[in-house]
Amino acid sequence: MRQLVAGNWKMNGLGADLAELEALKPAMPGAACEVAVCPPATLLARAAWIAKGAVALGGQDCHAEAAGAFTGDVSAEMLKDAGAAYVIVGHSERRQYHGETDAQVAAKAQAAWRAGLHAIICIGESEAQRDSGQASEICHRQIEGSVPLEADGANTAIAYEPIWAIGTGKTATCDDIAAMHRHIRGCLVERLGPKSAGIRILYGGSVKPANAAEILALDDVGGALVGGASLKAQDFLAIIAAARKT
Ligand code: PEP
Repeated sequence: MRQLVAGNWKMNGLGADLAELEALKPAMPGAACEVAVCPPATLLARAAWIAKGAVALGGQDCHAEAAGAFTGDVSAEMLKDAGAAYVIVGHSERRQYHGETDAQVAAKAQAAWRAGLHAIICIGESEAQRDSGQASEICHRQIEGSVPLEADGANTAIAYEPIWAIGTGKTATCDDIAAMHRHIRGCLVERLGPKSAGIRILYGGSVKPANAAEILALDDVGGALVGGASLKAQDFLAIIAAARKT
């Protein structure tokens, strides 16, 4: 399975920052993994013009409806129209700051597929949940609630992002990551059956050049979702270069 390294720019980036996207292009023909950059929606169309197909693009969220009276929202169809091939749904910052529920995340994944986008469905436990021994159960519950039964490897990736590791500089240990990815694989098989084998499970949470190689080498790590370290081309390229060669 080819790994996917996706950069989540979050609410960062003005037009001038698209120079970082431009700087990724020369390395793309030699990349061992699939690469996607998810800039803010305001930059997507300009990013598509710069990427010219050399770097795939994604949105950071979408509404479940295709169009309508939803002021400020962006639909999956709009992302696709602006040049996206992927969309992140259920990021912990959406769940935390916008109160998104598992059911809403599942509806957004279905919207992504309706528009022809690959959904990156995020799950992950908080620090308190991990400390109280609930991490596995939380991820199981989020998969049951957020991953629709039509998910397969062609339309979906899962991003396991322990909330306490996002933007904090704290990374889960390799043993913890490997154990949780094994657990998530089991949950996907239980929910979706054999077709779940093609679904990549990305790790996210303070992935950076210094730790990318050891994380991306772990069993059943299908790639990485990268926040802060995706903002600078030099760092993001170092992570891309650490992807597994097979
Ligand atoms: C993220 O926002 O998905 C993320 C993993 O952020 P960071 O890499 O900055 O921890």
